[in-house]
Amino acid sequence: MNYDVVIVGACTAGTYFSNLLGMAGLKVLVIDRDTEENLSKRLDIVHFTADSYAQFGVEPAKPGDEDYVRTFEVCYSKSALNQHLKTNYLKVDVLHLPLFIKKLRKRAVENQVEFRFGVCFDELLYDDHRRICGIRTTDGEEIYARLVVDASGISAVVRRKLDDPYVENFETGPRDKFYVLLKYVELLDKSIKIEASTGWPYYKGWIAPQHHEGGAIVGVGANLSFDYARKCMAKFENAIPLPEYRLQYEEAACTPYRRPPFSFVTDGFLVIGDAACLTKPINGEGIPSAWVQCTPAAQVVIEAMADGKYPTREALWKINTLYQRGEGAAYANERAMLIGAVDMSPRDNDYMFSQGIVFRSDDEPGPDNLVVALLKGVLKGEFSLAAFAALVKAVLKGMMLEKHYKNYPEAPEGYPAWERKALKLWAKAGSMADTVKDA
Ligand SMILES: Cc1cc2nc3c(=O)[nH]c(=O)nc-3n(C[C@H](O)[C@H](O)[C@H](O)COP(=O)(O)OP(=O)(O)OC[C@H]3O[C@@H](n4cnc5c(N)ncnc54)[C@H](O)[C@@H]3O)c2cc1C
Repeated sequence: MNYDVVIVGACTAGTYFSNLLGMAGLKVLVIDRDTEENLSKRLDIVHFTADSYAQFGVEPAKPGDEDYVRTFEVCYSKSALNQHLKTNYLKVDVLHLPLFIKKLRKRAVENQVEFRFGVCFDELLYDDHRRICGIRTTDGEEIYARLVVDASGISAVVRRKLDDPYVENFETGPRDKFYVLLKYVELLDKSIKIEASTGWPYYKGWIAPQHHEGGAIVGVGANLSFDYARKCMAKFENAIPLPEYRLQYEEAACTPYRRPPFSFVTDGFLVIGDAACLTKPINGEGIPSAWVQCTPAAQVVIEAMADGKYPTREALWKINTLYQRGEGAAYANERAMLIGAVDMSPRDNDYMFSQGIVFRSDDEPGPDNLVVALLKGVLKGEFSLAAFAALVKAVLKGMMLEKHYKNYPEAPEGYPAWERKALKLWAKAGSMADTVKDA
């Protein structure tokens, strides 16, 4: 069978991307190992920033649509000792994920994209010049395509099969992901309504609305394992007085929490979504974060494949430069800085909140000079010297990474030298898993 593009994975990244290519007239096949009924059943409720509909050209969900649950317009965050509250105004839709994906798929099918379920990727196919030219499924079927897109989520089944100096084939292991536990709960006090999301970044814990008015979702994310996440949930609930509840059911799933691969492309190949670790460092939001890469990537792919051309690494490279110099640079900074911002005591965290350092409300200017504000805390005995050192170091490392990403090479020739320096900078920045002391 011959296609222009075959996409492995039919969830938010693969389906959204397929539609962009389908609209441009490319012949696209999306496969998923799951059945259509089971697709994305691991997660029911997701929160989706309402601005993203217009940004990515997706029809907004509205009351009455089967995927739509409700909207909230404010997100709060609170300090570790629960004494300081920050308010951020953001319109967020609560959606049923499987039904949201179904709607995206309907649009893609209207644009002639083909979907096949219960079809599992096994191997890449290569032509006589050792260039990717399609995939083989676990049933032995060969599907030929000029471009193979990995949208297979955290397992990154295609990327991990690559043996190519331009795309890292790492596995997203326990240190590199967040094990997320979600408790769907019914509140015992019927007068309490959870109508906005509130997070406690120190505990990586939150409470947020769900589909039943008298209910909520209590969540925690942690590196290493579900056992450790459960321990973190207990620590969070011991420290923070949440409304009393009755447990309805639990969901447990993983999301990548590490830097993305330095390059997303090589000859005939592109990686997107969770397979490319494209989640937002501050809150793990993965759907719009992935689409930021997908939208310009689709334009580059369409140009690279015009008139039957084979999409070479050189032709696809612009996907790397556009992403890494933009969101990639900002998120590299944020990721490195957050490692220092959470590696401290609850009291230190409270001081940061009190001064609007890292954690601040939309209408709060924050300190004029970060170092001076932190030093004042040290002198007053409200912020520890160890936390000061950790945070300043993390901020500096974040700034260095951002600068380096903004200098992402224009073409593949500059990549090996850029990669060497990036690896050194990340080795110094460390990872969120390094902050775990009580596993
Ligand atoms: C608990 C939790 C809560 C979250 N909440 C939010 C939220 O509120 N808002 C938000 O924006 N993000 C949220 N995220 C993140 C978001 O869900 C993910 O970033 C996003 O769903 C990733 O989409 P994806 O299409 O890249 O991958 P996935 O959704 O993982 O889809 C990958 C698909 O590939 C298929 N596949 C895998 N291997 C093969 C194979 N060998 N052959 C064929 N198909 C294969 C799988 O069956 C799957 O359907 C959350 C994540 C978790 C874990």
